[in-house]
Amino acid sequence: MISRIIPENSIKSLRQHIEKADKVVITCHVSPDGDAIGSSLGLAHVLKTLGKRVIVITPDAAPKSLRWLPGARDIMPYSSYEEYARKLLREAHLIFCLDYNVSSRVDRMEQALLASPATKVMIDHHKFPGDFVNLVISHPECSSTALLVFRALCRLELFDQIDRDAATCLLTGMMTDTGNFSYNATDPDLYIIVSELIKKGVDKDMIYSRAINTTSEAALRLNAYALSQKLQIFHEHGCALITLDEAEKKQFGYEKGDTEGLVNKPLAIPEVTWSVYLREDPDQIKVSMRSKGSFPVDLVCRENFGGGGHLNASGGEFKGTLQECIDHLIAAMPKYDSYLPAKQ
Ligand code: 5GP
Ligand code: MN
Repeated sequence: MISRIIPENSIKSLRQHIEKADKVVITCHVSPDGDAIGSSLGLAHVLKTLGKRVIVITPDAAPKSLRWLPGARDIMPYSSYEEYARKLLREAHLIFCLDYNVSSRVDRMEQALLASPATKVMIDHHKFPGDFVNLVISHPECSSTALLVFRALCRLELFDQIDRDAATCLLTGMMTDTGNFSYNATDPDLYIIVSELIKKGVDKDMIYSRAINTTSEAALRLNAYALSQKLQIFHEHGCALITLDEAEKKQFGYEKGDTEGLVNKPLAIPEVTWSVYLREDPDQIKVSMRSKGSFPVDLVCRENFGGGGHLNASGGEFKGTLQECIDHLIAAMPKYDSYLPAKQ
């Protein structure tokens, strides 16, 4: 028996919202990752078995590594189908907001989302849930939104409606947000749930191979270049930094998602407590951070880069040049020395 973490009144309200709705739209955050796509498609599969008209609308397209997921071809990226997506959002009875806590995380879709008269339900695991929805199911102690969706479905007595396709999507979310169960993965319930999903016929090893351990030759070379030529370590601050500018991205034929996971690599060095990856994009610098133990990269992202996320995995943005961003980060480093583990 898995523990019941979602309050009974939230489940009751969720059940009523689902019963009343016919047209359901499921949304997730911009640059969707395995948890955003996996939780959205997993929920979509189950709601479809109840006869609901369900569509997943993402702010922009899913990365190639997730396009094989059952139902992924039916996803509508707002960035490509703006007008139709607006209509669907406007006409929806119920909108799910999965894997994000504030409306700005849907990027250019924000206005259409907020303007919709639909009932909105957030299911998410980021701290500080916003109040733009009618029902908040927010549990930062859950390692993934997919895990939370599974818990909600069980409480709604919909476990039997989770078929192999839904289970594949949900397990993908659980695996990607824990780095294949290598961090935030100490909750014993997680393994009971994984076992239940595997019993439904999911091929876990295939998910690892296709959603996590997959790359193109060009992307592999770009990551190798970043690690061998661009890694800087600030020993006194326990910080690793990797930066890539537009010219370097172009040199290696960079495509979106090619450096996914790069920021985690320096954490393998015992002296590195936190790792930062700064990527120059056409309109901004994308900031990604990861950490070990209790070092709060969500705080660093919030205080310096208008972002946030989780204690050990966060992101943000910087408007300015890459060098200005690097200077800003380096100037901020000493502020966080007190969070470093005591020297052995
Ligand atoms: P990533 O480094 O993989 O882009 O993001 C890691 C985590 O930080 C994710 O959980 C994501 O939700 C969060 N995150 C990434 N970028 C942003 C951002 O710009 N703003 C906020 N609030 N969170 C972000
Ligand atoms: Mn997530």
